[in-house]
Amino acid sequence: MNANLSERLAQDIRQRGSIGLDEYMRAALSDEREGYYATGNPLGRDFTTAPEVSQMFGELAGLWCVDVWTRLGEPAPVSLVELGPGRGSLMLDALRAVASASPAFMSDLEVHLVETSASLQRTQARTLGGVDIPVRWHESVESLPETPMLLIANEFFDALPIRQFAYTAQGWRERRVGLAEDDAFTICLGDVAERESRLYTLVNDPAEGEIVEIRPEAERIMRFISGRLSKHSGAALLVDYGSGMRPSGDSLSALGRDGFVEALADPGAVDLSAWVDFGALARVAGDVDVFGPVPQGSFLRRLGIVERAERLRVHADETQAREISTALSRLIEPEGMGVLFKVMALVSRDLQTEPSGFLDAERFKGDA
Ligand code: SAH
Repeated sequence: MNANLSERLAQDIRQRGSIGLDEYMRAALSDEREGYYATGNPLGRDFTTAPEVSQMFGELAGLWCVDVWTRLGEPAPVSLVELGPGRGSLMLDALRAVASASPAFMSDLEVHLVETSASLQRTQARTLGGVDIPVRWHESVESLPETPMLLIANEFFDALPIRQFAYTAQGWRERRVGLAEDDAFTICLGDVAERESRLYTLVNDPAEGEIVEIRPEAERIMRFISGRLSKHSGAALLVDYGSGMRPSGDSLSALGRDGFVEALADPGAVDLSAWVDFGALARVAGDVDVFGPVPQGSFLRRLGIVERAERLRVHADETQAREISTALSRLIEPEGMGVLFKVMALVSRDLQTEPSGFLDAERFKGDA
């Protein structure tokens, strides 16, 4: 329990009235002193992400970048960018694979990590301590260099703040965070400003009780990335959990040491995330080609993860071989992360073909 953070948020609500879920989520996750990502090292304790499940994930992501870069005519210098790198495991695995696959890529490379948490920046610096190419940190995408880039974001967008709206007998209202009589955080309804009328187009014919989520910060980042890709060329690989091209109702969830808890129970002490609406992201990406989302399992199979696991098993003892098989299943099977997790790519138009892991038919053509 981060008593101070809870108290500050409660004070704020007492003084100003309810706050948006986005404001609550940003404080709970990213408050400089007491946010979930600012304190300790929650990754691997409360939840395990794909790069922490197996080195194969980062390796294949790195090879995907090399493949795109080669097909773009090897532009140099080039930036390898990761958004929200967590412990830095994905980047470490990617760089190892890249170094053996393409020394040319390595020699033209600068690594740029976008990370708001000072403590995770330190963890990433430790993980990448032995890497002998330049690594730079950024607090936001805006300061990324103006170069061609290959960008990877795994479980980044799900951590960005959302806002929620509900359709009621009085029309659309915003679901905000207020205080109950016992001072616990609770959802309350607030008015929706006229300028937010685009909400009305999110759902045709909404039924009473229907809830939609929007993620303004994610859309801003998508616009920025696609702008950079179209200007300087490159690609972005986005992996996250979500239902696909549709908004998913109320998907906010909180995960703590002992599993899922009530979403507003303990700001700063639990991980808050919500499903990613890939359709909303695809629609704001301008002047690039968008592919997917495809299920993570299909994407990794197409990149050859089954064969990669097979090769790793050859050099492994019996216990390691079992671990490799378990990790493989977790990454690609529907019971694991194979279907809920999805992969979407943005590529600059000069690539001309589909990037590996995607079919031409999986090109996003806008809303039908
Ligand atoms: N990609 C990692 C970690 C996912 S957790 C993995 O797969 O293991 C989300 C990461 O995003 C954390 O590193 C968190 O500190 C970072 N993060 C959250 N919001 C951010 C923001 N607005 N800008 C930059 N990084 C952010």
